[in-house]
Amino acid sequence: MPDPLQLLDIPSLLSDEERAIQATVAAFLADHVRPHVASWFEEGVLPRELARELGKLGVLGMHLEGYGCAGTSALAYGLACLELEAADSGIRSFVSVQGSLSMYSIRQYGSEEQKQEWLPRLAAGEAIGCFGLTEPDFGSNPSGMRTHAVRDGADWVLNGAKTWITNGGLADVATVWARTEEGFRGFLVPRGTPGFSTRDIKNKLSMRASVTSELVLEDVRLPESARLPLATSLRAPLSCLNEARFGIVFGAVGAARDSLQAALDYAGTRIQFDKPIAAFQLTQRKLASMSVQVNTAMLLALHLARLKEAGTLKPEQISVGKYNNVETAIAVARESRTILGANGISSEYSPLRHANNLESVLTYEGTSDIHLLSIGHALTGIASFR
Ligand SMILES: Cc1cc2nc3c(=O)[nH]c(=O)nc-3n(C[C@H](O)[C@H](O)[C@H](O)COP(=O)(O)OP(=O)(O)OC[C@H]3O[C@@H](n4cnc5c(N)ncnc54)[C@H](O)[C@@H]3O)c2cc1C
Repeated sequence: MPDPLQLLDIPSLLSDEERAIQATVAAFLADHVRPHVASWFEEGVLPRELARELGKLGVLGMHLEGYGCAGTSALAYGLACLELEAADSGIRSFVSVQGSLSMYSIRQYGSEEQKQEWLPRLAAGEAIGCFGLTEPDFGSNPSGMRTHAVRDGADWVLNGAKTWITNGGLADVATVWARTEEGFRGFLVPRGTPGFSTRDIKNKLSMRASVTSELVLEDVRLPESARLPLATSLRAPLSCLNEARFGIVFGAVGAARDSLQAALDYAGTRIQFDKPIAAFQLTQRKLASMSVQVNTAMLLALHLARLKEAGTLKPEQISVGKYNNVETAIAVARESRTILGANGISSEYSPLRHANNLESVLTYEGTSDIHLLSIGHALTGIASFR
């Protein structure tokens, strides 16, 4: 069955270079990830070696300039995220956290020494990064965070805990956000620093091909040179989250496209009542409605990418994309699952794996509720977060 995004001839809206980057990422995933990802999901693992392979592919921090990063357009990065999440949201999460949260926080707010030390290794996948903002008692409202850093002579001493941190247990360096007497600040905490430990979160029913961890900081002593010098308020981590959300806008389209593709393929070959189930009007209604949703989600993603490239993309516009495309993707993944009947609950087919993963995507980087509040704020001028 054809690519569902051919319905509106979406590829004709891309340049040759953008199509080539998308095809290169898709080909890598077909060889290195797709054959294994269902068993990684079942086993709840993400092989560390994948980091170097993704580094060689050039997708780690690909939209950043210099320090070993490719410096591609926002749209090229979005298309890579689309293909990565079409394989599995866990793979896209790895790349998003590495590039848009860990590397972006260093690129945007770090000192020259911090950039030189970490960015080339993170781009190559020789080192892995994570981003610790969420705490056990503060998720949607990070401004309440308890993790704190206190000056002690020339050093800082950090205490606190972060949770639900993607790549935490794999990371060589953690960007950790903490409150100080002077306001919120970011610190780079290398693995092995005394007092810093991580514990992986087990028993996840979603995002299983991804490492998610707690970070514990007990009297972690860091020099002033570990602080991100240009991060001077909570605006810094929130700007990193906007970068990562942009990738999700595209990634969600990938998960939806892959689910729909699986449903289309299955409907064309599964015979019931002497006909392929694709021949029944009720099945066609599901397929047609889903393809309209996936194509329009892609048009929205493309529009936001062009705004980002023009430098005019606003946070509430990213909220529109994150809210719409993730809600669309989870609905498409669930509906696609129904077309596969009992086979739809087997890991042999992707739609239920995508739907389960999208439960996490719906929650992280701002829940749908929080994005609706952000859109409501832009529309009315009234903030109703509290
Ligand atoms: C797999 C996974 C990976 C993650 N990776 C990271 C990571 O790498 N780094 C990191 O820092 N965090 C990460 N997170 C954490 C994620 O960002 C938080 O889970 C998210 O911000 C929501 O916070 P919470 O879970 O504490 O939910 P809560 O904030 O407790 O929200 C619970 C419910 O209340 C609703 N709610 C909250 N406030 C309001 C309000 N004002 N109005 C209306 N409804 C409201 C929410 O929408 C939600 O439905 C990850 C989470 C998951 C699941």
